[in-house]
Amino acid sequence: MEVTVLGPWGGFPAASEASAGYLIQDKGFNLLVDCGSGVLSQLQKYIAVKDLHAVIISHYHPDHVADIGVLYHGRLIESQVGEKLPPLPIYGHPYDQKGFGELSHRSYTEGKAYDPNKELHVGPFTITFQETKHPVKCYAMRITNGEKTVVYTADSAYLEAFNRLADNADLFICECNLYSDMDGSKMGHMNSTDAAKIARDAGVRTLMLTHLPHFGDLEDLVNDAKQTYDGNVMLAESGYKWE
Ligand SMILES: [Zn+2]
Ligand SMILES: [Zn+2]
Repeated sequence: MEVTVLGPWGGFPAASEASAGYLIQDKGFNLLVDCGSGVLSQLQKYIAVKDLHAVIISHYHPDHVADIGVLYHGRLIESQVGEKLPPLPIYGHPYDQKGFGELSHRSYTEGKAYDPNKELHVGPFTITFQETKHPVKCYAMRITNGEKTVVYTADSAYLEAFNRLADNADLFICECNLYSDMDGSKMGHMNSTDAAKIARDAGVRTLMLTHLPHFGDLEDLVNDAKQTYDGNVMLAESGYKWE
């Protein structure tokens, strides 16, 4: 199981980079988790658009879905110049009709509603969900291939429920939009201490801080997290591959 960071930025992409997006691969299956601004460009550094098998979306904020429309264009054009591609399943929650409706484009991409109370099976992966604390409905995900487990918080303020979702995870991709002296509880985001607390209490192997802020010194996020959690802490970085 491999995870490639396509978009480590919160809110909008830094120059030549992307906002939220992660490519998760196992046994030849390519799953894209979130499809933020710039993700389609980053994705093609690793695989062709036609080789994507499924997409899953945490919520419908633009920094997580901005490239859905161009993903449809990519599938359409690759179908026209090559072999007709099957509809690409894009899993999203159905509690935002407009957002969910925009996942389906003719026969090229097909929005599929996940039920956050049930396990979802996509290719070799089993995915379970946890509702987050964010201004709009959003779901964190625990993704496992039966051997390794990756947990992605998507966007959220601190929640104790993440301890269970992230329990013993091999890789914990935790949003960290704020520095430790900033309170994200009303904004629906976490700071580096919040992320580290979950990493410690859940006993994860590696904490990857993501959804990064566009201000301050990012190394401070790591140093602050290390005050609370003594495991492996890293910043998500475009192109970083975890195996
Ligand atoms: Zn976001
Ligand atoms: Zn959001």
